[in-house]
Amino acid sequence: MGGLRLPVLPSPLEEIADARLGGRGVRLLLKRDDLIHPDIPGNKWRKLRGNLDEARRLGHDTLLTFGGAYSNHVRAVAAAGRLFGFRTVGVIRGEEHLPLNPTLRFAVDAGMRLTYLDRTSYRTKSSPGVVDRLRAEFGAFCLLPEGGSNALGVRGCAELPAEIDRPFDVICCSCGTGGTLAGIAAGLAPGQRALGVPVLRGARFLADEVDALQRAAFGVNSGNWTMAYDFHFGGYAKSTPELARFIADFHDRHGLALEPVYEAKLLYALFALAADAFPPGTTVVAVLNALADRAFRATPSPT
Ligand SMILES: *Cc1c(COP(=O)(O)O)cnc(C)c1O
Repeated sequence: MGGLRLPVLPSPLEEIADARLGGRGVRLLLKRDDLIHPDIPGNKWRKLRGNLDEARRLGHDTLLTFGGAYSNHVRAVAAAGRLFGFRTVGVIRGEEHLPLNPTLRFAVDAGMRLTYLDRTSYRTKSSPGVVDRLRAEFGAFCLLPEGGSNALGVRGCAELPAEIDRPFDVICCSCGTGGTLAGIAAGLAPGQRALGVPVLRGARFLADEVDALQRAAFGVNSGNWTMAYDFHFGGYAKSTPELARFIADFHDRHGLALEPVYEAKLLYALFALAADAFPPGTTVVAVLNALADRAFRATPSPT
């Protein structure tokens, strides 16, 4: 569907008037990174851009990356490879399931070759043993880590805050690998802070990941970010009736179908925390990397 249109930066900024926040003097701005490209979710493009330049500079014609069977990153690498003329290989965690799910179907249609690693090998996917086996099978490649979260990717995300041409106090994003939060926090001005909302259960390890990514990309931890761990709704890609109601209500109020794995949990957290976390007069920016694939319907359509 994205065809050959190129990603567009900067992404738009949009104010959302919501009485639940407005009533206490809090303004909410959405950074619409979902509009950067239809097949390369916003932060995936921000993380890939520098990596693609580097791959080209080093003379690579093949990108190889890792992810789960529903990975937005794997899908985005496939789309970017087609768009910018790289061959792509996706190394998928677990066994092959046929027919392919829509994420992997898209990737294959975009020209990506897929291979599968059992869960034990997947845990050591960056070890020389596993990488050598992949090179024997696929030839030379530029290796992109899971989620695209390496130093170049994090530096790409650090460019986001400078695109925001209005004063703000707090910027919030959802967290999978934490690369997006690591970059965004590093790009803030003094006095501004970042809040990350992990979508995984038991994600306290993520603070160390963000710390390590910031040190790799910038040499220091920016010290201006925190995380809210209690909004995973059971874990990655899990949901509850309460989250579903929130998504339906948000769609009714604002006409936006929130993407359920990451961004609905981010927005839910933001409204839940508003009273404690944001004093009157606070301007909050929420980064939306994607919307839902299909327009949300409050009642399932009869099919
Ligand atoms: C990948 C992704 C995230 C998580 O980004 P990380 O940098 O891995 O933390 C958030 N939202 C969407 C829509 C994504 O595709």
